Amino acid sequence: MPCWTEQADLTNQNSFGFQVKAERYYQIHQSSELESALKDIELQQMPVLILGEGSNLILGKNIAGAVISIANKGINILADNGEQVIVEIAAGENWHQASLRLLEMGLHGLENLAFIPGTMGAAPIQNIGAYGVELSDCLHSLIVFDRQQSELVQLTAKDCEFGYRNSIFKSSQQGRYIIWQVRLLLNTKFTPILSYQGLERYLTQQQIQQPSAEQVHKAIGEIRQQKLPNPIQLGNAGSFFENPIISSEQHKQLLLSYPELVSYQETEDSYKLAAGWLIEQAGWKGYREGDAAVYTEQALVLVNYGNASAKQILQLADKIKHSVSQKFGIELKIEPRIYSV
Ligand code: FAD
Ligand code: NAP
Repeated sequence: MPCWTEQADLTNQNSFGFQVKAERYYQIHQSSELESALKDIELQQMPVLILGEGSNLILGKNIAGAVISIANKGINILADNGEQVIVEIAAGENWHQASLRLLEMGLHGLENLAFIPGTMGAAPIQNIGAYGVELSDCLHSLIVFDRQQSELVQLTAKDCEFGYRNSIFKSSQQGRYIIWQVRLLLNTKFTPILSYQGLERYLTQQQIQQPSAEQVHKAIGEIRQQKLPNPIQLGNAGSFFENPIISSEQHKQLLLSYPELVSYQETEDSYKLAAGWLIEQAGWKGYREGDAAVYTEQALVLVNYGNASAKQILQLADKIKHSVSQKFGIELKIEPRIYSV
């Protein structure tokens, strides 16, 4: 039987730094412990929250129920044909540390995704993405604990139905699976992906023409540092809103009023809007109300200057949503998962 802690403090386990406690807190290293913890929680009829590093969550008040922190570790090569390698990484590994380790092992594909906070196990939930690369570009399969069947099963990348910052874990199968191992298909040869202007511009400024994997990795770290707040210094959960996807028709109409609109074609019939640009244009960049604020360098990020509550952050988010809706007719959607507000 795994042990648990009562009234565990989660202040350092959510990147907004909200001061909340969990009625019961389990830290799980083995799959057998996971199974018995879930049985125990079921017997107590307690709700359960699976926690990674809390960097995409809003914990609004003390959790009346159980929190399971997935803390298994390990990186193992499962197959290698000289050009491609399947590597299995435990869900409890830190994403960035694992990406660094894989780079050191000469395995490529994660360079543009370096420095994203959080665990390996949470990465498939919203199909993490940055600088033109998504997890789904290199995900081979997952080993997950299926709470319906009470056993570990394998899911292929196709089973996960990955979309833009989306998957079955956020939609049709929310709450059913606990991700235990992530299997990635990585390359031994490095092919840079420099489609994002910010990255290309940065490398040009550094006079780097054909960047190595290490140079791209380092550049991503430096660019992110300039634009994104470090949660250890300033509480935040990264992008607070999703980038809206709109139809070509709506895009055409918006361009008539806003010719400088920042947008990218997604499919033949849809466009993605930069939500940060919409918020900035509505006048919110750098706005502060008590300790709840809009980050000065990137309007898509809401920050906690110290003592803001989840309620205050969500009230600010509501005002932003309302004003963007009034100005552009676009309904913004909050990206992080909201618990117990
Ligand atoms: P948590 O916040 O702990 O959990 C997120 C969700 O996943 C919750 O619903 C939780 O229940 C569920 N979950 C966690 N682990 C498991 C598991 N093992 N099995 C099943 N469910 C689980 N995201 C991007 O996509 N791209 C970025 O570039 C990016 N940059 C960021 C920058 C900053 C400064 C911050 C603070 C966040 C950023 N994010 C970004 C968001 C965040 O880093 C990712 O969503 C990350 O994957 C969350 O990992 P986590 O371990 O903190 O998950
Ligand atoms: P940025 O590079 O200033 O770009 C602004 C927006 O334009 C982004 O939302 C990005 O979409 C989009 N974009 C830029 N160039 C593009 C291109 N060539 N093709 C398609 N879309 C393009 O963004 P940023 O705020 O500094 O963030 C950099 C990257 O890190 C982005 O990919 C962003 O998604 C990621 N990030 C994510 C989070 C999070 O919590 N989800 C937090 C911080 C950073 P995309 O967002 O679709 O890439």
